Amino acid sequence: MSLKGRIALVTGANRGLGHEIVRQLATLGATTILASRDRAKGEKSAAALSALGLEVSSVPMDVDELGSISDAVTRVLGKFRRLDILVNNAGVLLDPEPGSTASVLQTTREQLLASFTTNTLAAFHTMQAVLPAMCEQGYGRIVNISSRAGQLDELRSGFPSYRVSKTALNSLTRVTAAEFKSRDIKINAMCPGWLKTAMGGANAPLTVEDGARTAIWLATLPPDGPTGGFFKDMKHLPW
Ligand code: NAP
Repeated sequence: MSLKGRIALVTGANRGLGHEIVRQLATLGATTILASRDRAKGEKSAAALSALGLEVSSVPMDVDELGSISDAVTRVLGKFRRLDILVNNAGVLLDPEPGSTASVLQTTREQLLASFTTNTLAAFHTMQAVLPAMCEQGYGRIVNISSRAGQLDELRSGFPSYRVSKTALNSLTRVTAAEFKSRDIKINAMCPGWLKTAMGGANAPLTVEDGARTAIWLATLPPDGPTGGFFKDMKHLPW
């Protein structure tokens, strides 16, 4: 499959899963923009991929800041005149260590607000910024990187602010996808699995290459592909 001519934007992509998604999209031929809140880190990370012969550039984008989201999307649309693929990847896990035993009783309003800001509202505002262009061009693929930690069906204790912010991201995905389902715009959420990254830690069983596979599949869905779903390993998950 070739993504030649497609323009892709990946948030929080200077390291971890986002960086690998950029690498794989660009390897398939997409002109890929690596968004990063730290300009220098983004430029360095994009330069490493450009050095491999991939068409990758960087844009500063702090997804916690509305103005930064709109500046970044305006720059991309101004330069390329279209945006085909958006991967909302930037995320934070702010529950105190050991997160798995963090209690709702100790979770602060600040942790919840910060988790929602990065894990949920960022995707909301970024989709608001790109969807008018996707509607105009009649094509769009949006991948929201969520987590099974937010799967309602399986919710357990621990990581309270992370879990509820990802559950809300799943809800946002479904509501937005439903609104745009009559067009060739596919909006899906996915869990990449437990990955060896700064967030996942060294004991995680999966690599970023494993985690990126489902993201690439969702970013390249055909017109009759699913929308408004939640996936892991390219298989449907219950919400
Ligand atoms: P990571 O290694 O911690 O990387 C997170 C990335 O998000 C970094 O590039 C970070 O930038 C960026 N970011 C955080 N806040 C940002 C902001 N306000 N603006 C812009 N960028 C921001 O995490 P990861 O493991 O690659 O996770 C990527 C996604 O996968 C997240 O949405 C996460 O919830 C999800 N996920 C991960 C796992 C796992 O096991 N790792 C499992 C399920 C889901 P800086 O470098 O500037 O901090």
